[in-house]
Amino acid sequence: MNETRDSIQDIWGPRTPHEGYWPQRVDERTTEEPHHWVQSACVLCSNCCGLDIGVRDGRIVGVRGRAVDRVNHGRLGPKGLHAWEANHSPDRLTTPLIRRNGQLEPATWDEAMSLIVSKSKELLAEGHSSAIGFYTSGQLFIEEYYTLGVLGKAGLGTPHMDGNTRLCTATAGAALKLSFGTDGQAGSFADLDTTEAVLLVGHNMASQQTVLWARILDRLASVNPPKLVVIDPRLTYTAQHATVHLAPRVGTNVAVLNGLLHLIIENGQIDYDFVSDHTVGFEELVRTVGKWTPERVEALTGVPAAKLRAAAHILGTCQTLVSTALQGVYQSMQATAAAVQVNNINLLRGLIGSPGNAILQMNGQPTSQNTRECGADGDLPGFRNWDNPAHIADLARIWNVDLDKIPHWAPPTHAMQIWRYCETGSIKLLWIQATNPAVSLPDLGRIRKILQQQDLLVVVEDAFMTETGQLADVVLPAAIWGEKTGTFTNTDRTVHLSYKAIEPPGQARSDFDILLDYAARMDFRDKDGQPLIKWRTPEEAFEAWKVCSKGRPCDYSGMSYALLTGGSGIQWPCNEQHPHGAAHLYTDHVFNTHFDYCETYGYDLETGAEKQPEEYQANDPDGRAVLLAADYEPPHEAPDEAYPLWFTSGRVVYHFHTRTKTGRAHALHHAAPEGFVQLSEEDAARYGIATGDLVEVTSRRGHATEPARVGGIEPGLIFMPFHYGYWDEPKDGRPRAANELTLTEWDPISKQPHFKYAAVRIRKVHA
Ligand code: SF4
Repeated sequence: MNETRDSIQDIWGPRTPHEGYWPQRVDERTTEEPHHWVQSACVLCSNCCGLDIGVRDGRIVGVRGRAVDRVNHGRLGPKGLHAWEANHSPDRLTTPLIRRNGQLEPATWDEAMSLIVSKSKELLAEGHSSAIGFYTSGQLFIEEYYTLGVLGKAGLGTPHMDGNTRLCTATAGAALKLSFGTDGQAGSFADLDTTEAVLLVGHNMASQQTVLWARILDRLASVNPPKLVVIDPRLTYTAQHATVHLAPRVGTNVAVLNGLLHLIIENGQIDYDFVSDHTVGFEELVRTVGKWTPERVEALTGVPAAKLRAAAHILGTCQTLVSTALQGVYQSMQATAAAVQVNNINLLRGLIGSPGNAILQMNGQPTSQNTRECGADGDLPGFRNWDNPAHIADLARIWNVDLDKIPHWAPPTHAMQIWRYCETGSIKLLWIQATNPAVSLPDLGRIRKILQQQDLLVVVEDAFMTETGQLADVVLPAAIWGEKTGTFTNTDRTVHLSYKAIEPPGQARSDFDILLDYAARMDFRDKDGQPLIKWRTPEEAFEAWKVCSKGRPCDYSGMSYALLTGGSGIQWPCNEQHPHGAAHLYTDHVFNTHFDYCETYGYDLETGAEKQPEEYQANDPDGRAVLLAADYEPPHEAPDEAYPLWFTSGRVVYHFHTRTKTGRAHALHHAAPEGFVQLSEEDAARYGIATGDLVEVTSRRGHATEPARVGGIEPGLIFMPFHYGYWDEPKDGRPRAANELTLTEWDPISKQPHFKYAAVRIRKVHA
């Protein structure tokens, strides 16, 4: 047994200041001495820290960080060090279940798969490929997503495939496509080692990616620490270390960012040569941000003009800049409009494509990048453009299917629309993989009703009996991390290979094997009558994915399982030009915006209306980045007499998503066993509430009750973590999920739901 540090008490670990490089520090936690170690990486956030799994007698007994890995240099955070305990939780699903007479009862794999396949064939025979929808995850591996993408698009021909990644990273993808032509992060985590300044917008890195935050804490403890500008309405762990902390009112990100852009332009701190040679849209941007004087920003957002000027001074004078954004941007009003303003700051300053400069439109879930890359989230594989016939033809050639088999007559269906189609009855089979929408989607009362609709066959593939699984018609027990082999890619394009370390419990099977079984039973064929899915092992699937990715921005063609074994993860693109991967995209300041290559022809930022190919071609940016302007728009729901407070939701450091894993790890559960309602001292006094009192929060959708936590938040704003649902519900049976309160509406471009604002009222239930 070995525990190198107590990560529950000391979340980020001891400081290891930079000495021209970020020193190694190997974090390890084992409960017994392992017999052997198996290479892997952590799947509890989008950092994907390299780690080894310790195995003894067929059980996981611990993990240790991989010192050689470029992402973490050996470090692991509390979730990485503890959450593996969930693999051996006694309540793992071990056998398929089928609902009979209203009850979920054990079944054989053959019975469960036969039921799914017969329903699928029945719907196809009726000409309803669009009656089948998939709602997948940010937890699967490349090999699984790619298999799903191919069987869905070229086998079934359904446009209805998206993931819960719509909830966490859709805006990241949308903002990258709109500014740079395609998805893909321009920089690397390593840029944090040298940068002069970091801008974090709606991104509580200290809680979300604890190891990446340790990298910044180590810079702050070194000579030449970077300056931090943090934009967040709460005084988070991250904000506590800010050089300048801007705390805007909910829903006003665009106004604050426009104010920063206004000052940078007014102060003449832009790189005119870069803007002139490598961007389009400057004049429109100048016009739009021109009216956002610091005083006007202050009046609308509550951010003091002097603080805005101080932040703009840092951003306008630094020689290198890493800018990041996450859910405070992505899940808020005007998500994509705000995210592209973050891109605009680096673009105006010409700070992109070189060491110390990065824009990291962060991902939430560990493998959400791959959902976007592999065609399992509503995008086409390889960042191909659904509106470009040449891109569709390319896929048809690779898959050896007729071009018209691949749905491309309209944009792929986004998740919120998939749920709407289930609600209205046009989707009749919904297959949910490794996610728990009955806790994580907005407006849970509505979601529960949809899942219980009589004419909808709900299939849930998971490792545990989730709140969603309890409402399913068929439940398939899935193997998880550590029990299967595959690859995944983190936010800064680093690809890791995770080997199978132990056998899954009972009859649980990997998502990969389940999908292969489905494809075989459905007998999907290519144009030559050969099986559509030609791979049998994860490594063969990876080789197939390499072919599909070749020549596209996310080019994996130079990678192999052998290359990914033994050392560090490797960043894409990895090909003949970059045999060891590439730290930066756009080093030549040529962006992926050419008409023939880009992933989207763009949208109207206000309405979400798609631009026509002809319109894009007539104004082809042709390798220049796009400076997109957006003006502030008020939220659709705002506090009023009946619901006088703003509501927002987020995460705590010890949990991931709906706690299916972290809630089953002893120390993580005990560090944060229940949710809370955070409110300011002023609001607490007004409502007579003290820390620990039970508080009921009510919106127009529903209500939730949790203990109060007073302080660290702006007056007028209520915060609840979104992790807590009902599988380990409180004994008093009270509703407690934050998403009982949230809205059914989404960003017009990225279609990401608005979790970050709603109007609510509160009352003390009892002390
Ligand atoms: S920072 Fe993220 S990937 Fe790294 S150990 Fe923590 S949860 Fe895992």
